[in-house]
Amino acid sequence: MKYISTRGGIEPASFKEAVMMGLATDGGLLLPTLMPSVSSETLKSWGNLSYTELALEVMGLFVDDLPREDLKTLIQDAYSNFDTQEVTPLIDLGKFHILELFHGPTLAFKDIALQFLGNLFSYLLEERNEPMNILGATSGDTGSAAIHGVRGKENINIFILHPHGRVSPVQALQMTTVPDRNVFNIAIEGTFDHCQAIVKSIFNDLEFKKKYRLGSVNSINWARVLAQVVYYVYSYLRINRESGAQRVCFSVPTGNFGDIFAGYVAKKILGPPVGRLILATNENNILTRFVLEGRYVKGKVVSTISPSMDIQVASNFERYLYYLYGKDSSRVRDAMRRFDASGELQFNQAEREAIRTDFASASVDQAATVATIRDTFHERHYVLDPHTAVGVAAAGWLARDVSDCPMVCLATAHPAKFPDAVKRAIGREPDRPAALKGIERLESRCEVLPPDVEAVKSFLAENAL
Ligand SMILES: *Cc1c(COP(=O)(O)O)cnc(C)c1O
Repeated sequence: MKYISTRGGIEPASFKEAVMMGLATDGGLLLPTLMPSVSSETLKSWGNLSYTELALEVMGLFVDDLPREDLKTLIQDAYSNFDTQEVTPLIDLGKFHILELFHGPTLAFKDIALQFLGNLFSYLLEERNEPMNILGATSGDTGSAAIHGVRGKENINIFILHPHGRVSPVQALQMTTVPDRNVFNIAIEGTFDHCQAIVKSIFNDLEFKKKYRLGSVNSINWARVLAQVVYYVYSYLRINRESGAQRVCFSVPTGNFGDIFAGYVAKKILGPPVGRLILATNENNILTRFVLEGRYVKGKVVSTISPSMDIQVASNFERYLYYLYGKDSSRVRDAMRRFDASGELQFNQAEREAIRTDFASASVDQAATVATIRDTFHERHYVLDPHTAVGVAAAGWLARDVSDCPMVCLATAHPAKFPDAVKRAIGREPDRPAALKGIERLESRCEVLPPDVEAVKSFLAENAL
């Protein structure tokens, strides 16, 4: 299996090369040259596999340059510190199912990809006999999931910038209480935009980047998408086994388009068993406008109670664009250039129809999100986190569009990560799972630095591998 860039400017790369490359060197995103297809007999034969066994089959379709035994070990290790053997339990709430993706160490769905990616990086670096220094900025979930993905790895140091005093207290503690020596938290006296700008400027200094072997774990790494394809297949198999349903639909709370793109890949490889994908957004609804109006127009980011979806430009969108444009990489290249210049893309009638065949979409405001948490709690005694609630609300509104199949709503975070929003809805904070109990009493480590590129660079230089 070879990988190419959405912009057509690289020689075909192997899976391992694609993982280490992250972003393609021509600025595009990596995709397999050919989508494998899974026959109905094969799918049937996977019916009774455990999550990790299924992950080996699904990921194995896209990976041909790792010994299967090694891939198996990487997968098993990735999910061994989840708090349930099922990895992603599926809960039947009557009108819909909830797929709980928050059983990893940081209680959000990003653990599913980053626990795997951390192991994979460490394995590939060992093979090359090289260390890596991971640098990233976070406004919350990604940073802690990345830290927990690589903590304790000998050939990786990780440096995560967050805006000092501007991430939720629980999210800050999930990062700063990790005791491993390879973990460096940097609190920047500024905003998340400052953090991102600093990281970008450091990555743009190619000499510095090379000297300190800087790497990234952002959501465009193909291995992250791949790890997320698994739970779509898993959900279908579970529901098919229990009810005989031949097709399952999904509602996906969306920010960077990574999770829902994994759903799109699942649909490409399985065919009919995956029905419509509901793309659910909060007030940051660039992607909903894309689906409903056929225009992709950048807006202003607003802060909401589902902060991990407070995104305007979706970093994985270009992958979908490649397929929408019939795999014409020169069109993708031109479109991205136009978008960078004007902040806007328009789509023609045929493309609009194609988009609406793949997705349904709704944008859910904060009042509706809170009401959904409250109603689901009263009717079903189940507490949703605000991101998941966005998906559940959208699924409810669009139920008629997707009435031909059982609905799986992806639960992307544990409600205890967002106690304020939950309290607003149901009058009390959600119960804390074991991973958060007593976290305030743990020792916390963090370097506070001014919003200054040079200050961060010299901290990196002192502490890099
Ligand atoms: C990252 C995140 C999302 C959005 O996922 P994308 O892949 O960026 O679309 C949704 N919910 C939670 C809790 C997240 O952390």
